[in-house]
Parts: sequence; C-alpha cells; structure tokens
Amino acid sequence: MSIEEAAGAGSAAHWPRVIAHADMDAFYASVEVLDNPALRGLPVIVGGRSARGVVTSASYEARKFGVRSAMPTGQARKLCPQAIFVPGRMERYVEISRVVRRVFESFSPIVEPLSLDEAFIDLTGTERLLGPPLDAARNLKRRVLEETGLVASVGVAPTKMAAKILSDMSKPDGLLAVAPEKMREFLTPLPVERLWGVGRVTLARMHECGIKTVGELARRDPAELKILFGAMGPHLHELASGNDTRPVIADWQRKSYGEENTFAQDVALDSDEIRRVLIAHGDALARPLRADRVCARTITLKLKLARPLGGGRYPLITRSFSLDAATNDGPEISRVATGLLSKAGTRDKIRLAGVQVHQLERADGAQLGLFESAPAEDRKRDRLNLALDAVAKKFGDEAVTRGLARAERAAPTRRIK
Ligand SMILES: [Mg+2]
Repeated sequence: MSIEEAAGAGSAAHWPRVIAHADMDAFYASVEVLDNPALRGLPVIVGGRSARGVVTSASYEARKFGVRSAMPTGQARKLCPQAIFVPGRMERYVEISRVVRRVFESFSPIVEPLSLDEAFIDLTGTERLLGPPLDAARNLKRRVLEETGLVASVGVAPTKMAAKILSDMSKPDGLLAVAPEKMREFLTPLPVERLWGVGRVTLARMHECGIKTVGELARRDPAELKILFGAMGPHLHELASGNDTRPVIADWQRKSYGEENTFAQDVALDSDEIRRVLIAHGDALARPLRADRVCARTITLKLKLARPLGGGRYPLITRSFSLDAATNDGPEISRVATGLLSKAGTRDKIRLAGVQVHQLERADGAQLGLFESAPAEDRKRDRLNLALDAVAKKFGDEAVTRGLARAERAAPTRRIK
C-alpha cells in the first residue's frame, strides 16, 4: 500500500483539518536550469565560489554525488568536480517565489510561507470547490508547473508536521498524503529525529533511553519523558502521538490595525469627547478592514494617562475584548472600545485614546460558515457599510460622520504591522 493510496481518493469530510505543505524541488538550482536550458540534466550547484562559500542549492544530478545544501563549496567540488557552479540571483528567485505564492493563494486564503520556496496551505473546507485533498494537491502541483515551469513536491495531512514530513519524503516531483485514520501507522516507524524539535543533542539522549522511532516515543509515559527531557518531553510525546494542533497562519492574519489620537487638551475618562473619538476610530478602522476584506475578533482600547513619568513618557493602559464572531463594522468596534472604558480603572485624565483590532479572519473566504446565511439585519448593515465606504473613498473620510462621530482627530495614526 503506497502512502498516496492510504489517503484514499475519497472525501475529506472526516478530516479535522486538511493541511498541504508544498516545497519547490531544488528551487534555486531549478530556476538556473529554467533560465539556461543548456544546464538541464547537468549537476548544477548554486553557491559561493570563494574558499568560504557554501552550497545554497544543488540539482538532483549533483545530489547523486552526495552534494547537499549548506555543504562547504570545496567539499562539493571534491565530491562532484564536473559540477557547474553558478552564483545566486536572489532577485530572480524572489520574482518566481511571488508567482508560486499567487498559485498557492488561489487554492486557499490561508497560506503560511516558511521561506521563498515552501509554504503551508490550509485546504480545510475547500473540498466543494477544489475536490478531495489528493485532487486539490495534484492540481496545485500542475498549476505551479504551468505558471513557473518548476516542480513542487506536496504533502497532505491533518497536521502541519506530517504534511511537511510527507512533502520531504516525496521528493523529487512527489505527492504523498496521509488520512487521519492512517496517521499512527504512518508516524510509528519514522526515525524519531523526524519530529520537529529533536536536534542532535536530544536525539543522542533519546537513543540512550532506547527511543529510536516515533512509535517508541509515543509508547512512553509523558510524565517519565518530562523527567528525562523537561517540558520538551511531553510536547514531543504529543507530536509523536499525531497531536499537532498548530494552525496554518497567513501573513495577513498576523497584522493588526490601529487608530489613535492625542487630545488637544486632556479629557476625563467619562467625557463625551472620548466617546466621540472612539466612535470615529471605530469607523476609521472598519474601512481599511473592509477594503482588505478581513474581520477582526479582538478589540483593544489603549489609553495614555495624563500623568507624566518623566522623559516624555506616560502610563499606558490597555484593555481587550474578544468577540464571538469577527467584525469589520465600525459601530460594533466603537461599542466594544467604549465598553472597555469602564474597565480602565483610573481616575486620571486621558492624554491619548486609541483602538487596535487584531486576530483577523478572512471576510470572504473559507473561514466563514459558507452554509450559514447572515441574519437580514446584518446583511442590511453590510450594504450600508459598503455604501459608506464608497462615499468615503470619493469625498474623503471626513465626509462620513455617523451621529456623534464628528471627533477631532488631532493626530490620527494608522499602523499596519
Ligand atoms: Mg525546497
């Protein structure tokens, strides 16, 4: 039974998550061959040619001689004297990496790049659109080849670690998948150093304790492993047992959006002025969220107290609240921020008030319950917001003021991390 078959060609309905790891084969060397077809079929090594140079990428023809990434160039030259050495062209690799990334993002909004040539792609919930996991992964490989002329290897599994191990095992030009019910069978015989976090030192210690395979580690008592390996022990036991709940996190999910302003004159915590500012901040934040088609789950109120600490510094208070459902609605953001005022617990006057939103989710993609239709009231609100955005775009932010929201924005700042 091949591992590809183990996944079954069937539905992913029973998969808790469907995670693909795609990794370009011998990326830099393959780009050099792509741009110079005369190199095809030859041992190509990209890397520094000086005495201290190291190999950054080697074609599979060079790897046959034992050449590996990070190997000193001198050693590579001894192993494979006929190799063709080329200096790297980073701008070109970055250029192609962008094309590859766009292909990945056409399969899922949640793509977590690990480097220029590899990424996790969360395919959970894409089955209706893209088909069963293996079909989606095959198409992903085909699209990468069509768009770039380069080959990617892909692993598919319910966890990140397994997906990455599979793409690596499948190289070159491979595709391997493991379904949830086959995870134990897949992990058990693997050498324990396949687990993330098992470096040289830990591996030596594992061997001393008679642990050579992932299965042997999984059978040990986590309490015993804690004594032997510290906090790392139970963590590795979890990984060995196939429990790896780390989510795929896209770049855009790490962002936060913020609006803040320093008052011309310090204001009281319960003043209308501060409320007006928070309403304005809510609307000012909601527009870029909608423009970027994301919603935020967590809202943070930031207050700088009008009590100098010296050196131009002031005490800072932050209070946060996480909503059940992410939002990109200005009034809702303002309502939460205003509500957090009562949790500030200060009698000082306020020098600066800001609102930040984070824990972003895609507003239009797989993260939404595709089968839930929003209540009519919400849809009406969405349409109103889109209309307001259009007005703001045409006439500027100040044209759109909702009720009390005509706040003075003495020193507005917008920060997108
Ligand atoms: Mg690679």
